[in-house]
Amino acid sequence: MTESASVTEPVTEPATAPRSERSADVIVVGAGPAGATTAYHLAKSGLDVLLLEKTAFPREKVCGDGLTPRAVKQLVAMGIDISEEAGWLRNKGLRIIGGGSRLQLDWPDLASFPDYGLVRKRDDFDEQLARQAQKAGARLHERCNVGAPIVNELTGHITGVHAKLGDEKTPVTFHAPVVVAADGNSTRLSLAMGLHRREDRPMGVAVRTYFTSPRHDDDYLESWLELWDRRGAQDRLLPGYGWIFGMGDGTSNVGLGILNSSSAFRELDWREILKAWCASMPEDWGYTPENMTGPIRGAALPMAFNRQPHYTKGLLLVGDAGGLVNPFNGEGIAYAMESGAIAAEVIVQAHARATYAQRELALHRYPKVLKDTYGGYYSLGRAFVKLIGNPQVMRIATQRGLTHPLLMRFTLKMLANLTDPTGGDAMDRIINGLSKVAPKA
Ligand SMILES: Cc1cc2nc3c(=O)[nH]c(=O)nc-3n(C[C@H](O)[C@H](O)[C@H](O)COP(=O)(O)OP(=O)(O)OC[C@H]3O[C@@H](n4cnc5c(N)ncnc54)[C@H](O)[C@@H]3O)c2cc1C
Repeated sequence: MTESASVTEPVTEPATAPRSERSADVIVVGAGPAGATTAYHLAKSGLDVLLLEKTAFPREKVCGDGLTPRAVKQLVAMGIDISEEAGWLRNKGLRIIGGGSRLQLDWPDLASFPDYGLVRKRDDFDEQLARQAQKAGARLHERCNVGAPIVNELTGHITGVHAKLGDEKTPVTFHAPVVVAADGNSTRLSLAMGLHRREDRPMGVAVRTYFTSPRHDDDYLESWLELWDRRGAQDRLLPGYGWIFGMGDGTSNVGLGILNSSSAFRELDWREILKAWCASMPEDWGYTPENMTGPIRGAALPMAFNRQPHYTKGLLLVGDAGGLVNPFNGEGIAYAMESGAIAAEVIVQAHARATYAQRELALHRYPKVLKDTYGGYYSLGRAFVKLIGNPQVMRIATQRGLTHPLLMRFTLKMLANLTDPTGGDAMDRIINGLSKVAPKA
């Protein structure tokens, strides 16, 4: 059976499942930023949504907790109160340190995005997003661990999921004609539907911890371009960066992310590299073992569409499940939220179609919109990742680049994907032009 729109109408799949406790128009699996955003926009459009989350909020999520203006825009679109009174710490831009230089760059002035970023710890951040989806009408089940998909034998389409609910782990089933995989990098649901990771896409690893620090209220995100592998006879510059993000609550989030394009990737002990980097910092910043408020934790960064197709057989992939992390800078929250908003818009349109074939046609638009939106830019990102995997290139870039403020302003726009699509400046036009001509793979 093909998954094309010409598939004949299966009698068993109604567009709208009967509304009951265990069925809905759409099931969203995972209530991280991708899932909560998808559920919020679906519910706002009047669809009945089940949002299934295996943990209970608030819960820890390993992250740098840094939000660029792209993510801020998505928070605004969800009606989240991001005022300072509500506990959000704003940042004005990025401070870049490397090659003996230190450059402070403000976020660009754009029509399309605000000129500030934010920080927020993920336990609280993710809960706020999930509660906002709930307020919009999504039915959130916490402690709901989703297992195998329920698949229609005739069409191969997903029509629901098996799950274990509550502390008692009660087996339950949920049904819907459309399911969204928002279950993060490990995405068991996608795997169970036969969607495996593409090995030809870059992958990152990131680790982080928190320290009490006098630098906790820094109003710039700080990024260090020099991370060293000092194991061999000769020190090697690693492709990645370290970050210091003041959390505004007495602590700093300090971590590093490294790309798999370096030959040393598999042999390195990331925690040791983080410890060595922290030990090289001025003592009065407080990034010492005594000031650590939690263990060093790490996770993978799935980049540049590393799982495809983003729609098949009733299942849409959003956020990390679809490998949407930006390969230029390791940012994932904005892309998780944006893909959630795009998926919701596509599903709402599909839901209003009369026949199965028309709904399929509408749902197949999702991967196309994703490719149009990010495909070219991510292809450039893949080339960038390959390039900086060469320590020589990385060395020249950090030593020479930072001495050219104009070049760095361009680099900031490129790395953070912050341009105006129309009516922008010359830098915007170059970046948008390059993204347009690059293959949308
Ligand atoms: C160390 C580190 C630092 C990072 N720093 C930043 C940063 O500063 N800024 C940034 O933008 N990005 C950062 N990222 C990336 C960012 O964390 C991710 O891209 C983002 O969390 C993706 O959101 P998501 O909703 O797709 O997935 P997730 O946030 O992983 O959410 C998935 C959700 O699904 C749930 N789930 C999983 N399996 C099941 C199941 N079987 N049943 C039910 N629920 C399930 C999980 O409990 C979770 O709540 C960082 C990543 C790492 C590892």
